[in-house]
Amino acid sequence: MEFYGHVIDGEEVASLAGATFSSTDPHTRRPWAEVALGDGADADRAVTAARRAFDTGPWPRMRAAERGRILHRLADLIEAHADDLGTADTRDMGKPITQSRGNDVPRTAANFRFFADHARLSTSEAYPLDTGHHAYTRFDPAGVVAAIAPWNFPMMLESWKVAPALAWGNTVVLKPAEDTPVSATLLARLALEAGMPPGVFNVVHGYGPDSAGQALTENPAVDRITFTGESGTGRVIAAAGARNLTPVSLELGGKGANLVFADADLAGAVEWSIRAVFTNSGQVCLAGSRLYVQREIYDEFLDRFVAAADAMVIGDPKDEATQIGPLASAEHHAKVAGYVDTIAEQGGTMRTGGRGDGWTIRPTVITGMDQKARHAREEIFGPVVVVIPFSTEAEAIELANDTSYGLNAMLFTENLHRAHRVAAALRAGTVWVNCFFVRDLRAPFGGAGDSGIGREGGTFSREFFTEPKAVVMQI
Ligand code: NAD
Repeated sequence: MEFYGHVIDGEEVASLAGATFSSTDPHTRRPWAEVALGDGADADRAVTAARRAFDTGPWPRMRAAERGRILHRLADLIEAHADDLGTADTRDMGKPITQSRGNDVPRTAANFRFFADHARLSTSEAYPLDTGHHAYTRFDPAGVVAAIAPWNFPMMLESWKVAPALAWGNTVVLKPAEDTPVSATLLARLALEAGMPPGVFNVVHGYGPDSAGQALTENPAVDRITFTGESGTGRVIAAAGARNLTPVSLELGGKGANLVFADADLAGAVEWSIRAVFTNSGQVCLAGSRLYVQREIYDEFLDRFVAAADAMVIGDPKDEATQIGPLASAEHHAKVAGYVDTIAEQGGTMRTGGRGDGWTIRPTVITGMDQKARHAREEIFGPVVVVIPFSTEAEAIELANDTSYGLNAMLFTENLHRAHRVAAALRAGTVWVNCFFVRDLRAPFGGAGDSGIGREGGTFSREFFTEPKAVVMQI
């Protein structure tokens, strides 16, 4: 098995204590990579390197265009290594290769390009005062950023944090999820090859509690903590940040509502609704896992939706034809299978789906379940959808907003007025109308309630990864 180390201060290194863990391929259910297992001492070593690179190194002092050139070179290298990077995420967590290589890798490269250009081209406001003073805003880098990532879109979600943090002149310590460590080491190797100075982008592997993750959140030399993961973990990390008064950005869980009105384009609504809940085997924070369908079209929609779910190709994620791979780990499979096994107990009917081979769950469609049932309220994070009929627009909005989460919602209608009216009424960080998963990096991304605190994207990332400074001058 190949070994993947931490990347600290420009070197790929083993853990100080020499500990390792293995990453398991969810398709073969056998270990495929050996990885350095970091603890508090390794995390502290990475923060010290990032601190030194920030306080005395060239990166924060470079012009944005110079940093941008290195980030664009990194994007070129990511594209050139699409096979290795895509295969790493697929073997680590079972995502179909067409998604990891075909979607996540190009989007990761695009994220580095976007934030490099955004930092270079960004404007700031100036305020001429009627006293003759002038005030303007500078966006100075915040310092050392700790980035803690989940396993569902490993490299792509890491790049949403790492790219803006670096583009704005910060130094970074990334802790990837323990289930998906490999692509982060590959990314850090490519960053060095692109010419990034030592200590600017560090990767430390390990677990969360009592391990590298917790140590990063408690280190007073860290200036920003950016976290994506479960809502419960977000609460723990917010508390750790509060102790050092370190600003924390939290992108957490979701239970997306998907509203299909009778006036929708039915074929389009079926196609997007399938993608919204079964992409990445449903392991998507944005999954449209609560599907509300207006009564007039309920039967026809459901027939088509179930047929489309049944037609999905389940198999080896390395096979280009596969649309549904295994779930990411034994533990996660056990959790999702627990929901599948208790559908009848919770009053529902399984129209299609259920347990598949190994760690696979087949696209599972549930009807007849009450809005109050666990399956309709809790984030399952698997290919499982609850379909509930509604009668009126007001009822649809009420059902959609009846959740502690507030990450995203979808709605399908051909009525322009309804589209704007319902989008405004939904409590969600993103509302997609007649589409899903379309992302413009200038737009805010994040959620309300249990879905998090703060937003990522464009100027929203800038606000978080910089210290905005007002300069007031008498001229
Ligand atoms: P998780 O919270 O279990 O782990 C996420 C990361 O946090 C991992 O790297 C883990 O090692 C680390 N961690 C765990 N406990 C920690 C602690 N006490 N201190 C520091 N670090 C700690 O989440 P997961 O299972 O990897 O990811 C799935 C979750 O992520 C789902 O809830 C999903 O909705 C959410 N998610 C949200 C978004 C979003 O943008 N809102 C995107 C993707 C995933």
